Amino acid sequence: MFSWRRQLFLIAILLIASIGGSVLIIKRTIDDLLYRDAVSTAQNWAGFLAKHVTDLEHISNGEKPSAESLFFFEQAREVGRVFRYKIFDHDGNVRLMSDNLQAAATKPLTLGEHNPAAARAIAMGQPLVTIEEGAPPGRPSFYAEAYIPVAANGRRIAVVGTYVDQTEKRAQFNASFPFAAISIALLTALAFGLPAFAWYRRTQEKARAEEHIRFLRHHDLMTQLPNRKYLIESLALALATLPANGTALALHCIDLDRLKDVNNSLGREAGDGLIRKVAERLRVVVPQNDMVARLGSDTFAVLQTNVTSVGAAEALAQRIKDEIAKPHVINGKEVCIGASIGVTLAPAHGNDVKRLIKCAELGLDKAKKSGRNCIRFFTPEMAAKLDERLEIEQSIRDAIANESFDLHFQPWLNLRSGRLTGFEALLRLPAHGGDFVPPTVFIPLAEEMGLIDAIGMWAIRQACRTAVHWPPHLTVAVNLSPAQFLAGKVASVVEDALTESGLDPYRLELEITENMLLSDADTVLAELGRLKAMGVKIAMDDFGTGYSSLRYLWRFPFDKLKIDGAFMRGLDGRDRNVEQIVRTIVALGRSLDLTVTAEGVENAHQLAFLREIDCDQVQGFLYGRPMPATDLAATILADYWRSLPVELAPPAAEAHSESVAHAG
Ligand code: C2E
Ligand code: MG
Ligand code: MG
Repeated sequence: MFSWRRQLFLIAILLIASIGGSVLIIKRTIDDLLYRDAVSTAQNWAGFLAKHVTDLEHISNGEKPSAESLFFFEQAREVGRVFRYKIFDHDGNVRLMSDNLQAAATKPLTLGEHNPAAARAIAMGQPLVTIEEGAPPGRPSFYAEAYIPVAANGRRIAVVGTYVDQTEKRAQFNASFPFAAISIALLTALAFGLPAFAWYRRTQEKARAEEHIRFLRHHDLMTQLPNRKYLIESLALALATLPANGTALALHCIDLDRLKDVNNSLGREAGDGLIRKVAERLRVVVPQNDMVARLGSDTFAVLQTNVTSVGAAEALAQRIKDEIAKPHVINGKEVCIGASIGVTLAPAHGNDVKRLIKCAELGLDKAKKSGRNCIRFFTPEMAAKLDERLEIEQSIRDAIANESFDLHFQPWLNLRSGRLTGFEALLRLPAHGGDFVPPTVFIPLAEEMGLIDAIGMWAIRQACRTAVHWPPHLTVAVNLSPAQFLAGKVASVVEDALTESGLDPYRLELEITENMLLSDADTVLAELGRLKAMGVKIAMDDFGTGYSSLRYLWRFPFDKLKIDGAFMRGLDGRDRNVEQIVRTIVALGRSLDLTVTAEGVENAHQLAFLREIDCDQVQGFLYGRPMPATDLAATILADYWRSLPVELAPPAAEAHSESVAHAG
């Protein structure tokens, strides 16, 4: 793509070339006109002469002209623009000249004066014209010499040389030439210039639109600051060109503290205004050669170059923190916020874009955990954590690519009947050495990586495919992440999984946690409504650990409450308060017609208490740990034996039934 200056230059060149071309064409046309005029004048004159001079052939042969011819020659010495004429013989020798008629009258002219042009004209049988510049008064300043062969009875008898004065004709043409030249040049300029101008304008507009698109791709609209993509590109470039002379670069990751409070108290628009003000301050406080970018809603980054010491990076981080801490006036109100800042240095902490961003984020995490509104540099201790994290991230990617995730299933029982009711599907990420990375570790990472959606969908499909082979009274429960709801595809994915596997919708239970309802409760509840309409059951997982907002229980008809395992551990301390809370949750569930399941049941004491308060279901290590799908048959079979009358049950099943009964 040419720059606009280059395009303008090209247009100017083309315009000049077109005008110059027009001038040349006109000049050539005038020359041609003068030539044709000379030929036609000379031919007329020669014809006229041949008609009146009857002894032309004799004269051409060197004889004296007759008295009539001589009289004609005298009269015709100067006719119109013909200021001279000559008669040549076959060989191009002069036999008569208008300048020297006396000589012709007295004696034949000498044959010495030979004219090659005349000889050529008679040889070719065609007029031959040359245009000459003359020197007045001897000759006109511009004239044509025309040699016209004259034929009689099919023979070429002579050549009449005619000298036509074209000075005036040329002056006439030239007088009209500038006007014609300018008119044609203007027309050419218009014919060419208008489309060229339109093309130029279009090119400019296109270039501007492309520039705008490029800007949008690389900037955050609200603050006009570079976005994450632009920061990553700039960081990669800065790292690639990092000088070997010891100067380094620092990446500051800045998170605004208390922006949420501003959003909640003054409204979202005020929050946006605050973000814009912070962006403005960052622009001012950060040196011009360095970059300020907005990474997320309340997260910014600063790429500091030419860092000569850790102190320099520390000083900038401090200035940034101080600047953000100064009061901001929003909607006429003074608002004070703070900033947590994580800083990393390159090449000291790494020379890879992804790693450095992670390092800065880890520094930021540390700053937030240290009470916020402070600066924390990335440290080598964090590096070990980072490596572990990067390794898990890679395992997640590999597991997605190779479909090597696994689902383990943990049984849950009906406490009253002691019968197996279903299994909860729990995701497992295989790690090196046959171990598994716990879901509590890799699921938050997968959520951050934006991959939980795909993983969660796989879990739903896989759980349905497995459960369809179980006895029809058994249910399968699958956990869902908030991110899965963002895509708004949960209902359709569940529907597909049920259709594909042939599992009855009533045998599928989906577990959600309260935090899922915090961000966009309406969307989530609407999606849950669609699922429930399909016949799928919805359970509130980990109840009692989050906000335990009863509002959601009232807004959505859940089927089940799962009391978080932490309460079972609390029961072991014989804490009356925990007992009271668990009792209340069970009573609440009962009053709302919900099934209540206690999670994390590990011992007989917990079980006894749950029986006492009439909890519906239990799940925990006491009954079975999460196990691979291939191991479920034994559990299902044992449950089947337990359902048989004692006399039919094998001894092992009998023993197990007794242990459950005994625990009760
Ligand atoms: P959760 O849904 O509350 O699952 C119960 C967790 O408690 C499981 O941990 C289970 O192994 C553990 N557990 C069960 N009984 C006992 C017990 O008696 N004692 C103790 N100490 N622990 C017990 P796990 O498998 O590590 O899963 C942890 C969490 O990861 C799950 O909590 C769930 O929130 C999440 N998760 C698991 N699979 C998935 C999944 O497919 N998708 C999503 N989004 N989250 C999942
Ligand atoms: Mg669960
Ligand atoms: Mg749970």
